[in-house]
Amino acid sequence: MDESKVVIQALHQDWLQGKVVAIDILRLDLIDPVISGNKWYKLKYNLQYAKHKGHHTILTFGGAYSNHLVAAAAAANQFGLRAIGIVRGNDGGELTETLKQCSEYGMQLHFVSREEYSKKDDAFWLQSIATRFGHPFIIPEGGANEQGRLGAEDIASLIPSSYSHVAVSVGSGTTFIGLRNALPVSQTLLGLAPMKNGRYLENEIAQHLREDQNSNWQLFDRWHFGGFGKWNDDLLQFMNVFYESNSIPLDIVYTSKMMYGLSDLLKENFFPAYAKVLCIHSGGLQGNSSVADKLVYKSAV
Ligand SMILES: *Cc1c(COP(=O)(O)O)cnc(C)c1O
Repeated sequence: MDESKVVIQALHQDWLQGKVVAIDILRLDLIDPVISGNKWYKLKYNLQYAKHKGHHTILTFGGAYSNHLVAAAAAANQFGLRAIGIVRGNDGGELTETLKQCSEYGMQLHFVSREEYSKKDDAFWLQSIATRFGHPFIIPEGGANEQGRLGAEDIASLIPSSYSHVAVSVGSGTTFIGLRNALPVSQTLLGLAPMKNGRYLENEIAQHLREDQNSNWQLFDRWHFGGFGKWNDDLLQFMNVFYESNSIPLDIVYTSKMMYGLSDLLKENFFPAYAKVLCIHSGGLQGNSSVADKLVYKSAV
């Protein structure tokens, strides 16, 4: 992975709808094809810390399409650490492309029922998992811990102060928290959640914000397209048109819904005319393998 590959790219003038000064994209997706976007930032201090503490193995969690799981598998491999993945559901099912890749990077996969998986943050259950797997360094789902949030803060250093608004897609909220804690409060931070009722994350986010940083942010959950991982033809068409005019591939789970939401917000005159908006391309393109035949661009690795 190579953080120096990140660039800021302006969208085609048409996408501004004549409503704002600029809409640019911070291309974190260019860091690495697998350890892409925000996942690298959330993992790097976790892996450094694990090594520093003398661990040889990390253990983490994810679903069968998880960007985090495959990024953790690839990054651990590069750090010379063994990796164990606890996978939700999928028992007896065929391996998805994501899980196949996890295996290729040497991650040992263990499948648990949805019920068992739901205990992933329960201290007693984690204790039993730690014992069972020889006390690996445990990284929560989505890299949602202190090291993950600190890593996400590093993304803020790539954002020039000339932007009035920064927009990011929100899953666990870890990236959003790091950004809000590290960006000047004068920059408005907008989070777009790709799941139903995503605003439940507001509490979780507020808990981790430093007091003097807990302002000028807002979450939206209107653009979920039926729920997490769900999509329709309208969204696919949006992704294809977006690629044709900007040459930027979006992913089907997170960044496509964010950009769709932003284009609606522009239509609704949400932004002041002086706005300069920076959208964060948080990566996730490996997740497009399930819709590869419906996209005009190739994004699966
Ligand atoms: C994981 C992911 C997110 C969500 O990040 P959080 O830090 O969990 O909120 C956003 N975009 C992409 C592409 C992702 O893979």
